[in-house]
Amino acid sequence: MINKQYKLPDGYKPADLVYPDVPFIFSEKIEKRMLRKTAADALEKMFAGALKDGVHLAGVSGYRSEATQTRLFNNYVKRDGEEKARTYSAVPGHSEHQTGLAIDLSGTDGKCAAESCFAGTEEANWLAAHAAEYGFIIRYPEGKQAITGYMYEPWHVRYVGKDIAASIAERGITLEEYYDAVPVSK
Ligand SMILES: [Zn+2]
Repeated sequence: MINKQYKLPDGYKPADLVYPDVPFIFSEKIEKRMLRKTAADALEKMFAGALKDGVHLAGVSGYRSEATQTRLFNNYVKRDGEEKARTYSAVPGHSEHQTGLAIDLSGTDGKCAAESCFAGTEEANWLAAHAAEYGFIIRYPEGKQAITGYMYEPWHVRYVGKDIAASIAERGITLEEYYDAVPVSK
């Protein structure tokens, strides 16, 4: 569990990053197209399941290295100041994208990619209903900002495995609540 309280070890990089065979909203074979093997396999199954229901998902952003997160965060700080930047961007070492187990998704048109207008779309509704069947959770649910530290992000899913995902979805809780580790919101 990575959040505003719990960080990854300095310089952490997963050893088993692969390119999942699913469409992305860009075509380059770059860092953000990668996920850890287990998550990538589950993602491929989830995309296939969505397609059967006529829902066309696309990847937006998966793995992000500490170096990339540092660069992004520093740019946000320059633009908005550190206090504001922390409300919407993770401090380096605290981004779930660095685990290689989280990915932002959208529809194949890339509309509302990682933006609040993704909420209520066919793709968002499908993910909310079915992600857990494939071992993913909506990591930052609506109304849970005081617990997760993040606003509602219907596009950001985190691989936790089918058992934990089913329990979290059934109980309507967050990963923090699941581990009985509700952090002080910062
Ligand atoms: Zn994300």
